[in-house]
Amino acid sequence: MFDTKVLKINDKSLQIAKDYVLSGEVVGFPTETVYGLAGFAFLDDAVKKIFIAKGRPQDNPLIVHLHRDYDVDKIVKVEHDYVYKLREAFVPGPITMVYKSRGVVSPVATCGLDTVGIRIPMHDGAQEFLKSVDVPIAAPSANASKHTSPVTAEHVYEDLKGKIPLILDGGKCQGGIESTVLDVTTETPIILRSGLVTAEMIKKVVGRCEYSKNLPTDKVRAPGMKYRHYSPKCQTALFGRDELDKAIEFYNQSLKSGLTPYYMCDGEIAKKLNGNVLNLGNTASEIASNLYDALHKGEKIADVLIAFEVKTGSDVDVGIMNRLSKACERR
Ligand code: AMP
Ligand code: MG
Repeated sequence: MFDTKVLKINDKSLQIAKDYVLSGEVVGFPTETVYGLAGFAFLDDAVKKIFIAKGRPQDNPLIVHLHRDYDVDKIVKVEHDYVYKLREAFVPGPITMVYKSRGVVSPVATCGLDTVGIRIPMHDGAQEFLKSVDVPIAAPSANASKHTSPVTAEHVYEDLKGKIPLILDGGKCQGGIESTVLDVTTETPIILRSGLVTAEMIKKVVGRCEYSKNLPTDKVRAPGMKYRHYSPKCQTALFGRDELDKAIEFYNQSLKSGLTPYYMCDGEIAKKLNGNVLNLGNTASEIASNLYDALHKGEKIADVLIAFEVKTGSDVDVGIMNRLSKACERR
């Protein structure tokens, strides 16, 4: 058990974080997407501690984070020239590229795969932390496995207090959903997880981009695609945009049963509803940025969260719906 400290990022806390990381402990840190749980990526035991703290399944590989001046090519092999264009356009930023590994990263982090996902975050605090430790950092989101991803230091504390010694506090994450994961080992880059760097944006730079066949997109109604992930600790219900009446009935039924329901929706739908509302905003970037915070708020104030499909017309909707449809139960 640790007496978990939450410290604002400054020279002193960065030195403490560095000492922990280099001695094989794991610490929380902010990025522009969500908070990460950082461990020295070359040390098997440090990486194991990440899986244990989160209760993460052993077969889900971790992303390796680097500061912007770190020589990525010491860790991975570039197999296709389009990678250089992608780096020019989107790195540092909310994109993880999966490369052929040179085998130096701990196999615990890569789950024994011959590939490794690399991300160079653009968040100032993340860069300061990564620069300070100056070693590759394996990091998943800093939440208990399956729970909603953390976008504030408090969220990390709620899930991991006692399990880690330190959380670096860099305020609220602005991006709000996890990085786009892009396989760059293939002739055509393949999106393994959708995020803020979208297929459209990648197509503009590379000329081509595909979604992985296994990626659930925005098909709320697709049966069998869902397993719980990103979930708040309250009852949830997800409705289509054309199911307002059904959602209102569900809300009223919940009230009658003595429960506290909240709608969680964008501004356009909020205008049509009466009662408790968590408004996610209007644009896709606002909605992405507010989604996890709303799920965290929701689980504290609501017994039932009633969510709606998001359709702003932006390509970012794919990433939002990927998270929302796993976090909330389709009705
Ligand atoms: P999380 O750590 O929860 O943000 O999730 C990391 C994501 O990156 C998961 O979807 C992983 O499956 C994916 N990922 C990490 N490394 C690899 C890899 N080498 N190959 C494929 N996917 C990866
Ligand atoms: Mg995660």
